[in-house]
Amino acid sequence: MRIIRTIREMQQQAEAWRRSGEVIVLVPTMGYFHAGHLALMRHARSLGTLVGVSLFVNPTQFAPTEDLTSYPRDFDRDRRLAEEVGVDFMFVPEAGAMYPSGFQTQVEVTELTRPLCGATRPTHFRGVTTVVAKLFNIVKPHAAVFGRKDYQQLMAVQRMVRDLNMEVTVVGHPIVREADGLAMSSRNQYLTPDQRRRALVLSAALDRARQVFAGGEVRSAVLIEGVREAIGKVPEVRLDYAELRDPETMAALERIDRPALLAIAAFVGKARLLDNVVLTPSA
Ligand code: AMP
Repeated sequence: MRIIRTIREMQQQAEAWRRSGEVIVLVPTMGYFHAGHLALMRHARSLGTLVGVSLFVNPTQFAPTEDLTSYPRDFDRDRRLAEEVGVDFMFVPEAGAMYPSGFQTQVEVTELTRPLCGATRPTHFRGVTTVVAKLFNIVKPHAAVFGRKDYQQLMAVQRMVRDLNMEVTVVGHPIVREADGLAMSSRNQYLTPDQRRRALVLSAALDRARQVFAGGEVRSAVLIEGVREAIGKVPEVRLDYAELRDPETMAALERIDRPALLAIAAFVGKARLLDNVVLTPSA
């Protein structure tokens, strides 16, 4: 597996690969790989001839109060895991090269990034779409794979690609979970064993909502109240939001008469964790 560290080398190599007919598939990441990342890489393999992973803890998507400096990092382990799943190259740029002095351009998807995570982290998605646009220009992928755990992020990237006529196919991948249901996340690393047990309420509450919905309940307020109640009972878990939204536009939904995204975020100790499920009415 080749490690590429400079933007210039990456762009020249990508151009050469494209000219020789390779189909490049990119998996953008912030590293500290878990089975979710590896599943995205395996899926990427089925979409093209060359799989690349970018590893960049992007400073502009963190607010000053957030965990940029403590974000878990282990390059040697990440390199080994990526190599084991057959990744062809890793692009690992320096922050100073991605954001040299004088940098001042932002890519912002204005509407669908406002609610949910955007309400709590107002500058986050602008940082994400800007860095993803840069990565697309540098790695020149034909396709890119993103996880549905970060559902709003996936939708923002798809919207950006459509709005800016980028020639990249953005593919979503299902949420990969631990055996007990917890959605995998690099930030699960922050949890103490007690918090790890308590964090299970996130996936359990979504599961319960899915059952209540399957039993005929379609009112958002009722489904959300159930989630709030379940999470409210667990010490050390503080709900940030639980909302039902249109899965594409992120518009609020009063009732589920079409597919609906039930998304939650909660603080558990030092970690802010996300989870979601799409509820689809049967025909
Ligand atoms: P990150 O390194 O956290 O920025 O994640 C890199 C990519 O992996 C993003 O597209 C995430 O949505 C995706 N991802 C992270 N955790 C999971 C998971 N548990 N299941 C599926 N995709 C995931």
